[in-house]
Amino acid sequence: MTKKPSTLQKYHLKPSIFDGKNTLEVARIIAEIFTLQFGCQGGTKDEILKTLLPKGRANTWSNLDKHINLFCKQFYQKYEQNAKEIQFLDNVRYILEDLPQRQKYRLPESKEEYPTAQATAEHFITCSLCWRSVAQKPLEKKTPLCHIHDLPSSSNEYRRRARMKVQVVNDIVKLTKSLPTLWEIKRSGQNLNEYLKGLCLNPESPLPYLVKYLQSLNLPLETEKDILQALEYPVYYHKIPLHIKEAWDFYMEDRSKHFKLNYIKLLTAEAWLQADAERKHGGRRR
Ligand SMILES: [Zn+2]
Repeated sequence: MTKKPSTLQKYHLKPSIFDGKNTLEVARIIAEIFTLQFGCQGGTKDEILKTLLPKGRANTWSNLDKHINLFCKQFYQKYEQNAKEIQFLDNVRYILEDLPQRQKYRLPESKEEYPTAQATAEHFITCSLCWRSVAQKPLEKKTPLCHIHDLPSSSNEYRRRARMKVQVVNDIVKLTKSLPTLWEIKRSGQNLNEYLKGLCLNPESPLPYLVKYLQSLNLPLETEKDILQALEYPVYYHKIPLHIKEAWDFYMEDRSKHFKLNYIKLLTAEAWLQADAERKHGGRRR
């Protein structure tokens, strides 16, 4: 079995990170690295994934390449030819071309679960109605919903939040544009983990709704792991199968160690919390 790359390795673009992966896994990695390096200007991680694989499942390599090319064109219109976003996507395409051509690019349809807790955790995706993470099975097509939002789609709360979503996505884009990218923070010599902790805890943070929300939970907020647990709260450990619980344990350890990987999650939380607060006060005024 090919060794899974660590989250940190995933952050850097190297040919080896695509080894042994199918197109769905590769597209997920590209979307993740892209949002980490450049923020949400190409859309959120899930939106980019949808652009790269519109059918939402593994496809041929040439099809993936075609969609990366289309995604690139979005940036040709916005930036100079040599923009770092385009260079990044060009690099991805060079790497894809060099991959050994494989016939088997799909996950076996019959595969019920990911083989390890780490693989399950690496495939967590964002709740459709908030910022929390949700475990999914391979090829599962159900709308991802966290323990709080696992509601019937006809319920008032579900519909209320679904209506908020367009605004939230716009707000995430605005937030990513107004804040520095991880790339820029790192270049300015700041410690990424400390910067992100400040976003969550500092009363002067540019994410005030997030700071207020985390304080309101009355949970410990000393370490990165405390903050991540508060962000994901509540996870109903008593209701989930053991292997999903193990995936959550892996996720909490790994994502708190590499806390910078939660940047987009923090912005997503801020956008939802802000939209929620504004709706409660009679809707957004313009
Ligand atoms: Zn949720």
